[in-house]
Amino acid sequence: MTCIRLSIVGLALLVVSGCHTAGLLSAVDYRPDQPVRNVIFVVGDGMGLAQITAGMYARDNTSVFEQFPVVGLIKTHSADELITDSAAGATAFSCGQKTYNGAIAVDSNRQPLRTIFEEGDERGYGTGVVVTSTLTHATPAAFYAHDESRSNYEAIAEDLVLSGLDVAIGYGKEEFNARKDARDLLAVLSERGFKVQDNLEEVDVRKRQRQFVGLPGVDPPRFSERPKDFLSRGAVLALDQLKANKEPFILVLEGSQIDWAGHANDTEYLIGEMLDFESALQAVLRWAEKDGETLVVVTADHETGGLTLTGGDLSTGAIAANYSSKQHTAVMVPVFAFGPAATLFSGMYDNTAIHSKLRRALGWE
Ligand code: MG
Ligand code: ZN
Repeated sequence: MTCIRLSIVGLALLVVSGCHTAGLLSAVDYRPDQPVRNVIFVVGDGMGLAQITAGMYARDNTSVFEQFPVVGLIKTHSADELITDSAAGATAFSCGQKTYNGAIAVDSNRQPLRTIFEEGDERGYGTGVVVTSTLTHATPAAFYAHDESRSNYEAIAEDLVLSGLDVAIGYGKEEFNARKDARDLLAVLSERGFKVQDNLEEVDVRKRQRQFVGLPGVDPPRFSERPKDFLSRGAVLALDQLKANKEPFILVLEGSQIDWAGHANDTEYLIGEMLDFESALQAVLRWAEKDGETLVVVTADHETGGLTLTGGDLSTGAIAANYSSKQHTAVMVPVFAFGPAATLFSGMYDNTAIHSKLRRALGWE
């Protein structure tokens, strides 16, 4: 019954039905009439279709992405360049405006733009970021900071401390307590109501708690050297904490190093990061399915490496990869959506439309 309804709706709206994926998620994946309470916005930095495909073959020809009923495509260019960087890409998502490469939530005239986190804060929403990069890296920064340059990490750390953020999990503790200006921002975080820790093991979720988990390392380790399941455990902890705070919320989750593997043209690194990202995605989908009021949107800021798959072996999952660049590329990247209001995200559109679609999904416009 469910499958029939899904297929009809799927055809009508040109969305991909997930009902053939036996044993995976059920009808909850399509709920056009349910209001959206919470948003989980997931970014695979540098994740194009080839990266997703490489992960899929490495997972025995299955992909967590198959569980998303709605798929779209976005144009990724920045205000003045065909090829975006992560700062301009994340600013498009968080503020709905194209800007120059390197900009953290400021416009082409270097004036601050209101981010979806700031608007959420004013509207009584909790906000959080969970990343495998440093917390001050461009993608998360564009949601809570404003700076004319992505490389002003210490200034961006100050913005984090003063922001309305409720949960921050990632690397780069040193930018908060081993600074050129010798200030101890970890102490300020504590004063501002954060429980400050440097590992996930000791985090416990309690009511009305802000959480800052800053792991040491301004050069964060790749998947094989991170604490096991760091991204998925961090994501679930963040979700549980935000839910315990009893406010609706927006969580940004980033598989930051898919991009770094692309820059390095390192396929083993890439597949490791994709598998790690997919297990986090699976955990997020389970959480959202159980919650029933949470929209999950997954996309990328751009593709990295100009990756193509030129061969391989279906029986072993081995792939032959070919890179055409050490940098980002201009190809469109996919968008996947699950949960209430997911159908807003089908079609082909600009990266800035992610912002307006999220606002519409939340009932803000
Ligand atoms: Mg990033
Ligand atoms: Zn990059």
